[in-house]
Amino acid sequence: MKKDSLKPYEIDASQLVGKTAKVFLPKNIKELQEIVKQNNSLNIRAGGTGLAGGAVPQGEKTLDISKIDKIVDFNNDKKTIVVETGIILDDLQDFLAQYNLEFPINPSSHSICTIGGMISTNAVGNRAIKYGRTSDWVLWIDVVNPDGKIERKNKTELMDFSGMEGITGIIVRACLKLTQTKERTGEIIYLEDYNEVLKKVRELKRISEVSMIELLGKSVTKDLFSKDKYALTIEFESDQGKIKQKEFKKLLNMRDSVGPKLSQEGHTILEDPRVMTDKSDTLVSWFEKNNIPFFGHLGVGIFHPRFSKDNEDKIPEMMKIVKKLNGQITGEHGIGILKKEFVDPSDKKLLLNMKKRLDPLNKFNPGKIL
Ligand SMILES: Cc1cc2nc3c(=O)[nH]c(=O)nc-3n(C[C@H](O)[C@H](O)[C@H](O)COP(=O)(O)OP(=O)(O)OC[C@H]3O[C@@H](n4cnc5c(N)ncnc54)[C@H](O)[C@@H]3O)c2cc1C
Repeated sequence: MKKDSLKPYEIDASQLVGKTAKVFLPKNIKELQEIVKQNNSLNIRAGGTGLAGGAVPQGEKTLDISKIDKIVDFNNDKKTIVVETGIILDDLQDFLAQYNLEFPINPSSHSICTIGGMISTNAVGNRAIKYGRTSDWVLWIDVVNPDGKIERKNKTELMDFSGMEGITGIIVRACLKLTQTKERTGEIIYLEDYNEVLKKVRELKRISEVSMIELLGKSVTKDLFSKDKYALTIEFESDQGKIKQKEFKKLLNMRDSVGPKLSQEGHTILEDPRVMTDKSDTLVSWFEKNNIPFFGHLGVGIFHPRFSKDNEDKIPEMMKIVKKLNGQITGEHGIGILKKEFVDPSDKKLLLNMKKRLDPLNKFNPGKIL
């Protein structure tokens, strides 16, 4: 590859820019195993949609897994599928749609992110309130270890890899659980006061058909709907919602476009703190006091405040509030390079022990998380 053609491999969606010496694009798992055997240091990359710099190389060679993307086995009766992990989520969903099945975790990057990227970041979708995280839907994975050997990891060992952002091994195959596709309808509610929002969320959580509760902060709602209010987008897995079929799809697409729109307006830095929904008023007041636009998966307490170059120095202050509320510095995007400085020393120790156990020579994703 020429130097210029390496450039797309030196970034991800975090906007961090790195450097890579070379890119490997193996076409099958055997080729990937050989590359692992022959190299001491590898940056693992899939869809490159990560928002924490997890796939941004720090000078080492890059291993792009995106061509390893076959469907290996499908069992309609058991509702399971085995895939190679470079498969893009929407391609998997298109295959499953013909059987009225789907993979229920749905991050907004669904058209480009891969199953491997989702497992390794343990991605959360907008239906997390009902379906949880990616790891909840994984039965087993095949991992390539630093010696280039394949090891099967069942549920009990899954969390040594899921959420570890590629620092412990390369996930090359996964057996996934599936669900039946549902009729989905929606509703959008505008509310003046944040306490009313929290009250509404408590009510909605009692309804079993509710599969999504998304929040738009006031400034975002004003921009999109010319209303100076909070907006709650609710999804029902039944015909209960007033907004149906195409109109509801339009509403969901509009929700997915909020992030890119804020980026265009200069709010390019995206964070993803998570706090208990009931305690989120403190965080929301802080965003509003500092004029920080935000949206998020309120049903599970994940917020997406958007910072700009002018106010990014406020991020450490936000992290302090999140920790004070016993929240998490990252609810879904991971630590990568961007959030390393905010990891608690006790968590760091645990992560370091795991890294030493599974990748003692620091072959995979050096400089990430730790
Ligand atoms: C517009 C947009 C919306 C998003 N919305 C959401 C959302 O709603 N919820 C959410 O959770 N995230 C979201 N994200 C973040 C991102 O899309 C997810 O984290 C996604 O799962 C990353 O997948 P990827 O294939 O792009 O992985 P990459 O970005 O290529 O990699 C991410 C990390 O996983 C590692 N990795 C990738 N594949 C493997 C593998 N096979 N084995 C081991 N390690 C691997 C990489 O080294 C890196 O550390 C969004 C991103 C964008 C740009």
